[in-house]
Amino acid sequence: MKTVIVTGGLGFIGSNLINILNRKNYFIINIDKLSYASNLENINHNIKNYKLYKEDINNKNFVINILNKYNPSLIYNFAAETHVDRSIDGPKNFINSNILGVFNILESIKNYKKKIKLIHVSTDEVYGDIKKNYKSKENDAYNPSSPYAASKASGDLLIKSYIRTYKLNAIITNCCNNYGPNQYPEKLIPTIIYNLIKNKPIPIYGNGKNIREWIFVKDHCNALIKISKYGKLGENYNIGSGVVFNNIEIAKKIISIFNDLNNNKVPKSLIHFTKDRPGHDIRYCLDSSKIKKLTKWECTSNFENKIKETIIWYANKFKTNYYKNKKYKKRIGLNT
Ligand code: NAD
Repeated sequence: MKTVIVTGGLGFIGSNLINILNRKNYFIINIDKLSYASNLENINHNIKNYKLYKEDINNKNFVINILNKYNPSLIYNFAAETHVDRSIDGPKNFINSNILGVFNILESIKNYKKKIKLIHVSTDEVYGDIKKNYKSKENDAYNPSSPYAASKASGDLLIKSYIRTYKLNAIITNCCNNYGPNQYPEKLIPTIIYNLIKNKPIPIYGNGKNIREWIFVKDHCNALIKISKYGKLGENYNIGSGVVFNNIEIAKKIISIFNDLNNNKVPKSLIHFTKDRPGHDIRYCLDSSKIKKLTKWECTSNFENKIKETIIWYANKFKTNYYKNKKYKKRIGLNT
């Protein structure tokens, strides 16, 4: 049985990965500091072969002890601060988790005598704003815009330096925007769904023409599993779905799927344009041919079906007290 560390495994993507790995006979060690974005309910903690540690990846003694105690062969690093708006209001937590946290993992692995592979989960935002029709490639220069993107880019660059200098076994993945169950409801898609359910105006930043690529979270997780098996050490891989929309299109699509599901007639006029995010990138889009060629991974989910599934999931969760922290309702990230 393979022993795997998942950091940030109580957050959105990490918990989805654990819920998939769980079925595949891994011993999973979940290290999560339980920030506001995490949720214990994201995982069934009674599963076999699973251990949760409430810890910060910046705790070096702890990370080294875990390595020595469990002898894992693989680490998936999801632990990070992830909301761009929060990074605008307060970048320090982003520096701590996304740069210093990565540094601590790298140092711990460097001094660990056994062979271990690090899969570091990064973002398309490191490439920055790109022109119409262009797709970011793995060798493109990093050009991050927000403090979040800059912290992720810094973490990636540190890893690249450790790969080259210390011959560390690491792979970086750069994925587009994820959607699906288990996401703390502050980012675009869960915010749209939450406001639809509560019959409130749907806030869209600026003119709503910002373009993003959207992937169902389980497709991302499956790509990460493939990369951990077949990815070449020292490389980075883009993970994109090819599903590209601007924010108004996303809002309209979700409204019509929501209406179909509820036999309802929420008008498109519920969309409400709000002040733009400072430094808001216009467009991200990934060239994902490298991972597809190497691993034969394909993004198999149908966007409409998976949005439907996501709406139903949130509708059920919002009926419970799943999200006790209500801070996500307040507009943040305006640098005021
Ligand atoms: P999330 O905010 O939902 O979860 C992050 C988790 O990490 C939380 O459970 C939090 O408690 C934990 N955490 C944060 N700092 C920590 C620390 N110092 N020590 C231990 N635990 C810590 O994030 P997510 O959306 O699941 O994203 C996971 C990773 O994927 C991040 O690295 C993010 O940059 C990357 N990513 C996310 C997306 C997306 O659309 N959500 C897209 C591309 C890449």
